[in-house]
Amino acid sequence: MAAKDVIIEKNYIDGQWVGGDGERLAAINPVSEQAIGHCIEASAEDVDAAVRAANNAFAPWSALSGKQRADYMRKMTAAIRGHLDDLVEMQMANCGKPRGEAKADIIGSIECIDYFADRAEELDARRQTPVDYDIPGYRSNTRLEPMGPVGFILPWNFPMKICAWKLGPALAAGCTVVIKPSEVTPFTDTFWGKAAEEAGLPPGVINVVNGRGAITGAALSEHPGLRKISFTGSTRTGKFIMKAAAEDVKNIGLELGGKSPILVFQDADLDLAARLATEGVFYNAGQCCNATCRLLVHESVEEPLAQKIIALSEAVVLGAPDSPGMTMGPLASKAQYDKVTGYQDIAREEGLTCRTGGDRAPGFDSGYFVQPSLYTNVPNASRLWNEEIFGPVLCLRTFTNEEEAITEANDTEYGLAASIVTEDDARAERVAARLEAGHIYTNVSVAIPPETSWGGFKQSGIGRELGPWGLAGFLEVKTVTSRG
Ligand code: NDP
Repeated sequence: MAAKDVIIEKNYIDGQWVGGDGERLAAINPVSEQAIGHCIEASAEDVDAAVRAANNAFAPWSALSGKQRADYMRKMTAAIRGHLDDLVEMQMANCGKPRGEAKADIIGSIECIDYFADRAEELDARRQTPVDYDIPGYRSNTRLEPMGPVGFILPWNFPMKICAWKLGPALAAGCTVVIKPSEVTPFTDTFWGKAAEEAGLPPGVINVVNGRGAITGAALSEHPGLRKISFTGSTRTGKFIMKAAAEDVKNIGLELGGKSPILVFQDADLDLAARLATEGVFYNAGQCCNATCRLLVHESVEEPLAQKIIALSEAVVLGAPDSPGMTMGPLASKAQYDKVTGYQDIAREEGLTCRTGGDRAPGFDSGYFVQPSLYTNVPNASRLWNEEIFGPVLCLRTFTNEEEAITEANDTEYGLAASIVTEDDARAERVAARLEAGHIYTNVSVAIPPETSWGGFKQSGIGRELGPWGLAGFLEVKTVTSRG
């Protein structure tokens, strides 16, 4: 049976696909603006059943060796590979992504789970380690224990992939999970249930409950049967989740987006700088937490850089996935379209200088298409300079020296990522050391391999995903001290 026939209109609880009588929520194709399927909203009772299943599955799952869990995880990635074409089509239809970007999401999910399967195997040797100290009569061992059943609340910009960033380390650590996809993009995240089923995971290790944030998401974040909520989304919703988690002192992992600067110095390769700035803010139509949306450029190279960016922006071909020559799709939802076009209106009200774009895209009968835009000479009090837009909108300001560039770059409540473009290695190192962000890129695109870390300073969140830090986020440390 094809993946798409299984996962629509069902939640996956305790190893069963269950329909339930919850509200049918339409998932919209952002090109046609028509429903392409529905998910069934899980009620608080459904969430409770999923959390109970995760609790029941926890003891046997966490008692397996890391090697045994890794075997299951690799069977899951084999299942994903077996449905690759379907999954790419679903991602394109539901998100409006170009085929290459949709495929990168699914392949990235596979690579992430495989990476953490390797970490699960390593955990067998690391599970218990002696503490190195010398106090006569004492000896200690440190044990790493899985945190317990955990919940994920997921966004719509990279469905499946962001779940993999949480699921890989959680399963490797020995945790069981309840996943809530975004109701905007339910399909590929609901497929995690299908992957679990095909891999023969014990019932309850992975559960998927669809629904709106205020209903299903709130029931999950308030549930006392979970030890952690890992969330990716807006800072506003992250604050709700923190408050809900405070009630029973749940652990939290929050990835809350950003307003990432890209600093272009006077010695930069300007072709490279223009490519990195535009790629960084146009990928996924700008709906990226690490979008390079605040361009800080040395005043001496402002105009030549702006010209190159305008040329690259005007070469973007908007269109439906797979339409001839298309390089950028629509925004993922009506809500996001309203938000981004709302910022275009604010730019007009603020009197910003728009050098290209700045409007809804003409020539489409339907679809949430917006023009890629460049605003220059943007005052640092502008809402466009300070607020996360999550669209293909690049704002430019100039600086006169390195100190001013660093101060401006750090002058934000966010701190997720930052990019530096310079041919001077000593400068790159000096500036990277002083930027307040979780991931700094020098002269490269904003890629996120699973071996690195992901997460932010300040209001960009709490905790780190990926790498050894991601695994540590689902482990408790227990020290056993005895006479010795
Ligand atoms: P949200 O933060 O509201 O949504 C993210 C997830 O949280 C969704 O699954 C949502 O469910 C759920 N959610 C919403 N309210 C609650 C709640 N009270 N309790 C528990 N879960 C909840 O983001 P939006 O979709 O509204 O997007 C708004 C903005 O957020 C974007 O424009 C962008 O700036 C930022 N964002 C950042 C992301 C990142 O990668 N860091 C990703 C997505 C958005 P549902 O969708 O069903 O309402």
